[in-house]
Amino acid sequence: MSVSAARIDLDAIRGNVEALKVRAGDAAVMAVVKADGYGHGIVQSANAALEGGATWLGVAMADEALALRQAGIDAPTLAWLLGPADDWAAVASAGVDVGINATWALEKAVDAAAISGRATRVHLKVDTGLGRGGAQPAEWTELVAAAAKAEADATVEVVGIWSHLAYADEPRHPTIEAQRRAFNDALEVVEHAGIQPTVRHLANSAATLRLPETHYDLVRPGVAIYGLSPGPEVGEAAELGLTPAMTLTTQVALVKRVPAGHGVSYGHQYTTARETSLALVPLGYADGIPRHLTNLGEVAIGRRRYRVAGRVCMDQFVLDVGEDPVSAGDEVVLFGPGTSGEPTAEEWAAAIGTINYEIVTRVGARVPRVYQGTS
Ligand SMILES: *Cc1c(COP(=O)(O)O)cnc(C)c1O
Repeated sequence: MSVSAARIDLDAIRGNVEALKVRAGDAAVMAVVKADGYGHGIVQSANAALEGGATWLGVAMADEALALRQAGIDAPTLAWLLGPADDWAAVASAGVDVGINATWALEKAVDAAAISGRATRVHLKVDTGLGRGGAQPAEWTELVAAAAKAEADATVEVVGIWSHLAYADEPRHPTIEAQRRAFNDALEVVEHAGIQPTVRHLANSAATLRLPETHYDLVRPGVAIYGLSPGPEVGEAAELGLTPAMTLTTQVALVKRVPAGHGVSYGHQYTTARETSLALVPLGYADGIPRHLTNLGEVAIGRRRYRVAGRVCMDQFVLDVGEDPVSAGDEVVLFGPGTSGEPTAEEWAAAIGTINYEIVTRVGARVPRVYQGTS
């Protein structure tokens, strides 16, 4: 049994989804559980989100959707990043909806229907300006026409029409209105082709929280269901009614006295100013502790904060705990909701110029996820 753990508060996930559902108003909630539920565990996160009132699940990869089905989760699920080499028939046979970015992908969906024996459920994606996935507006009419024909042939069912925002985390950005207009134009093309999708969807977490005009029939929050704010302009987690669900903990592996002037860790990026105690923390960059936290990141032991002393290594890093009564076996809280004096994932991200998403999704496979709460 590892001394380290990413403790996952399933009640927090459920409560966060309840809060998002209120924000979503009449729109249904698709809980995004890609990347192993943003590091929180895909199946457990999905179940907690469904208990909180989500009625859809969203993932990027085919295997993620299949993992949900293998766990017995049969909620409507969209997998949006299938490539030519993916097993479209397996995904369609599992009753998973697929995102369609291009006519070749629609052909894959049609071919899958011949194997699964039923119309493949598709969500056609238009690029309204993000410049990532989706069909360009110039290709849209052709894609929609091909989908209308496939629907008439009963090889696909167009369940959704969707797109994704570039600047939802800057709620006043002018691209938002431009993307919304482009999305409405794309919906008109769909209507003219005689397609009646069940769900039109555009909003991620930030848009769910701050841009009601982007909600349409369904919203797709990810990071917020794990209790993290999508960005500083959207608001702080607490004021958004969100509770961070992950607390990363371990135990001090060793405490020892060293003299003044002692170099610490690779490259001696830290040197002790006086005789002191060093505490060894058994988590490193292989476990998702960013190496950039060297001499920068803070963690908590009890109610006290300590800064990482010297380089973060693969499996461990060091704290200078001075004369404090720290012993081997003491609990170290690396980050959590911040309610007991520990740093948040947000704080770590800000310290090294990244986003909280990256902090939680990178917690490594060596760290067991330990579930708390009633899901
Ligand atoms: C990841 C993702 C989301 C969720 O984004 P958050 O910012 O985490 O809410 C929604 N839609 C798409 C297409 C995504 O890739």
